[in-house]
Amino acid sequence: MTSTIDPKAIGKPPRRRHHVRTLTGYLPDTDESGKEKWPRGDEKTWKDAIRGPDTDTTSITKSVVNHVQTSLARQAYNLDTSGAYQAAALSVRDNLILNWNDTQLQYTRKAPKRAYYLSLEFLMGRTLDNAMLNLGLKDNYKESVDKLGFNMEDLLEQERDAALGNGGLGRLAACYLDSSASQELPVWGYGLRYRYGIFQQLISPEGQQLEAPDPWLEMQNPWELPRLDVNYEIRFYGQAERLNDGTPRAHWTGGQEVLAVAYDVMIPGCYTKSTNNLRLWESKPKRGFDLNSFNAGNYEGAVGESNSAFAITSVLYPNDQTTFGKELRLKQQYFWTAASLADMIRRFKNLGKPITDIPDYIAIQLNDTHPTLVIPELMRILVDEEDLDWDVAWKITTNTVFYTNHTVLPEALEKWPVPLMEHLLPRHMQIIFDINMYALSHFLQTVERKFPNDRDRLARMSLIEEGYPQQVRMAHLACIGSKKVNGVAELHSDLVRTTILKDFVELEGISKFSNVTNGITPRRWLDQCNPELSALISKTLKVDKSVWLKDLDRLEGLLPFTEDAAFREEWAAVKQHNKERLAAHVKATLGLDINTHAMFDVQIKRLHEYKRQTLNILGVIHRYITLKAMSPEERKKVNPRVVFFAGKAAPGYYIAKITIRLIVNVANIINVDPDTKDLLSLYFLPDYSVSLAEILIPTSDISQHISTAGTEASGTSNMKFCLNGGLLVGTVDGANIEIAESVGEENVFFFGHLTPAVEDLRHEHRYHPVPLEQKCPALARVFEKISSGAFGDAGVYEPLLATIRTGDYYLITEDFDSYIQALAMVDEAYLDRTEWVKKSIRTTARMGKFSSDRCIMEYADSYWNIEPCPVGK
Ligand SMILES: *Cc1c(COP(=O)(O)O)cnc(C)c1O
Repeated sequence: MTSTIDPKAIGKPPRRRHHVRTLTGYLPDTDESGKEKWPRGDEKTWKDAIRGPDTDTTSITKSVVNHVQTSLARQAYNLDTSGAYQAAALSVRDNLILNWNDTQLQYTRKAPKRAYYLSLEFLMGRTLDNAMLNLGLKDNYKESVDKLGFNMEDLLEQERDAALGNGGLGRLAACYLDSSASQELPVWGYGLRYRYGIFQQLISPEGQQLEAPDPWLEMQNPWELPRLDVNYEIRFYGQAERLNDGTPRAHWTGGQEVLAVAYDVMIPGCYTKSTNNLRLWESKPKRGFDLNSFNAGNYEGAVGESNSAFAITSVLYPNDQTTFGKELRLKQQYFWTAASLADMIRRFKNLGKPITDIPDYIAIQLNDTHPTLVIPELMRILVDEEDLDWDVAWKITTNTVFYTNHTVLPEALEKWPVPLMEHLLPRHMQIIFDINMYALSHFLQTVERKFPNDRDRLARMSLIEEGYPQQVRMAHLACIGSKKVNGVAELHSDLVRTTILKDFVELEGISKFSNVTNGITPRRWLDQCNPELSALISKTLKVDKSVWLKDLDRLEGLLPFTEDAAFREEWAAVKQHNKERLAAHVKATLGLDINTHAMFDVQIKRLHEYKRQTLNILGVIHRYITLKAMSPEERKKVNPRVVFFAGKAAPGYYIAKITIRLIVNVANIINVDPDTKDLLSLYFLPDYSVSLAEILIPTSDISQHISTAGTEASGTSNMKFCLNGGLLVGTVDGANIEIAESVGEENVFFFGHLTPAVEDLRHEHRYHPVPLEQKCPALARVFEKISSGAFGDAGVYEPLLATIRTGDYYLITEDFDSYIQALAMVDEAYLDRTEWVKKSIRTTARMGKFSSDRCIMEYADSYWNIEPCPVGK
């Protein structure tokens, strides 16, 4: 909007500073001899006044009390636990900021190639505990807080999870940030600062999932630094006119302009000064208010405009593994990629290098297709603003961008209607058509030559899917715009190469398509969530955790101790204490009593048909029926089991919500049945989150990862459980396969059909259906029980049962019998407790491969080509 205020108007319009220097843009001057000059003022005065970190208990206590007095304006008289948490957090934050400053100055000085991890989700969880542990200061803070009259555990409970993600994809991004900092790599994350994270899940007494907003910023958030001076203008809508001057350039004008403002989150490495940055963008109106509208006397219109600007980063969309085509979501994607890219290019330009050097200084990693618009956006900048030839721009782009695919499920592959994209981003739509022509024409000619008259192939590969309306295939765009493409486990990467991107492999060669099996950070997922086990490991290995937490293969040193009975007892005692810790938490929060002497069987993850929580709950009902049919004598031989579920369903996912309802109502019946309640109980713990995972995972004897073969790309909670000595019940899918290779197949309970069989079985179900009673009598009895009204109104569950009775796309009926067998083998194995504990120890000992440090080093070496840039070296 061209806004000109009447020059005769009295008073000044609001002013805004932007694109000014930032910490990371500063480069020290040197004198003639090459020595660095002190930037300003008297060097000694500065140096005497600069503070160092607070590391001993005395200075930590001073710093905490100082924050109580000044930052919070409170005193010992009126300090509650929440205030004490804030003060401790602000003190820890001071330490992080000092390291952050040193790290960023080092990056500026050394100007290494940097990698940028673009993710629409960062599921960070809580920060205080993690930060203290990574700094190596937890004991000191604990002592200090204790002396001030508080309990550290209570303080930690005050913090709200930062839940800017749906599930695995967002948590992976968080683990990768932790590993990048711990490995001292120059990596920044870029994401959005949603005012509302993933919804809070409530469960009604009838078992309905209810969704409440997550206003996580309601309390002061000590973990972010607002950078109001780092902001960019982002355009939407308007007109794109090609110049037609023999260049590919165009002018994009008009439309709506919105401001992206940076908020920085410090990411501390483990036992290193290296502290990286996660930059989250917030949207706001460009001028606070549109001045033209004031001139026209349209006050409300001006406010309306500003509302639509604020809306962009207001909420995280709660869908996992599905697309939904909302315009505001596409707006989020462009807003975030454009701001992030502008920020990278500003930083690059400070180096004074020619623009063609971008691939030598920047690697951009796309976490799934959500940031794919970075490809046409970089082309737009290079062609329209930097005036580069198309081919030069394309070469720069395709040497800078890397794409990670996270799913082959058709309903999760992103597509955007061409008319929507044309309306919102007219210039980008032109560029995408041009990429399709230029980049693909080269391919398409090759295709023509290699596969003459193969029109189907051309249609399959095009960036544009024909239909009404036409759609942009984001995975194809991400693929051809990237230097390398990877999947997230061996099996999944194979499926990417042989199914959704097969045609591209045939054209571009296999070497572009590779694998990086996911991992998890052992800092959060062992040291932080299971401190007793961490201490036992350090004691047994006689190695400080600062060493083995960053070199996880060292866990193999535990293997000889499997034969040490005293060690096994300690190992089992840790599991027992963790069960009691969870039971106390459940008692305090839900008022329920849990039998801590039972086997703990856990399935916690997003609710999804492909993840097959249904198989699990149907198996529980089967067990219940079996127990009920036993004589009291027979029941005495049964090992008690407690089954835990937790997970959120997308608010519009009808079948997933019925599954929750079934779980809750089965729990209501069996937990009070006097015949069975001591042998089988069931809990659906509401509001699954990182913090709930941290308390549940260390308790598990077994956990379930039972997706239909070929549907779970990797899974990462399987890794968390195994690292904590829980055994796995699973299908031959995702990273389960590699976990079994590492820990030994004899330590994993596998069942079910294999991936190559799945398509044929589905075909059989479609064209030669067999009645359930014939196909799987055991499951038919479970269905009868449900339909008899044993768990309340049977009609409620009918749509869920119908998906299994007809079609059975996720092959419940095919895998049910072998699933029940696998659980029987679990029961049998658990009888020999000594052997069981050995399995548990061996599992933990062989999980080294699944440290996210290994993943991030693979990305650094084989993809991004970046090197560590440690502080002070
Ligand atoms: C690890 C994790 C996930 C991913 O779980 P999967 O079982 O791999 O799908 C999801 N949510 C949270 C909170 C997690 O910590």
